[in-house]
Amino acid sequence: MRTRIVAGNWKMNTTPEEGKKLVSEMIPMIDDEIRGAVHAILIPPILHLSGLMSLFSNRKQSLSWGAQDCSAHSKGAYTGEISAEMLLSVGVSYILVGHSERRAYHNETNTLCRDKILRIIEAGGCPIYCVGETLQEREEDRVTPVIEQQLNEGLPELLWEKSLPLIIAYEPVWAIGTGKTASPHQASEVHGLIRHWLKTHASDQIADSTSILYGGSVKAENAAELFNMPDVDGGLIGGASLQSRSFVEIVKACVR
Ligand code: PEP
Repeated sequence: MRTRIVAGNWKMNTTPEEGKKLVSEMIPMIDDEIRGAVHAILIPPILHLSGLMSLFSNRKQSLSWGAQDCSAHSKGAYTGEISAEMLLSVGVSYILVGHSERRAYHNETNTLCRDKILRIIEAGGCPIYCVGETLQEREEDRVTPVIEQQLNEGLPELLWEKSLPLIIAYEPVWAIGTGKTASPHQASEVHGLIRHWLKTHASDQIADSTSILYGGSVKAENAAELFNMPDVDGGLIGGASLQSRSFVEIVKACVR
């Protein structure tokens, strides 16, 4: 069975103090109400990570930490960048790659995403690779080629050759932070396409074991209907992960 996962991407929100308060509210709820049935990943701003991890270090396996980005380089003269190795060394296990905000505001291409994924693999972490179409691409009936191109160009074969861990997040750009959610049917259709791509490019075993998350305006009210669809193994949550009760309700909606 695939791991059920809900990850909270805080984006550029909260001060370290606010972050501490949020995590100290969430953790007891996750421990008491989820009891390990879903794997929760918290993805705060990089600045908060070390502090939060040392404060909440002796947590159960059901809670892990992620970073929102990393450098495509391993080390060197890249001012302002943080390497995957540095993130892994402080206890981060997961790193987002190719979030649509980074693609849109930092011109990140599929090829750059591939390089970042390679650095994460080398450091021993698990990439969460984000793919998704814009509204225009959907309206022009180009969802399949767009997603396939993101997968073809972004995912290195080394992942399959060495059976390395990977999570894929389907996040339609038009649904991120807009309050518009993909219908359960739309989400399931693209998740099925991604699963099929994994079967043909990797293997049946990898396709069956890779968790594919849906992201885009998921809230406590719509989470269950999305998470219950075939091939949807959980969610990547933005805005609703900044409020402890709403995030925990979304994690609960993922329990099978
Ligand atoms: C995201 O940032 O990955 C996201 C899905 O945001 P939101 O839930 O706010 O749409």
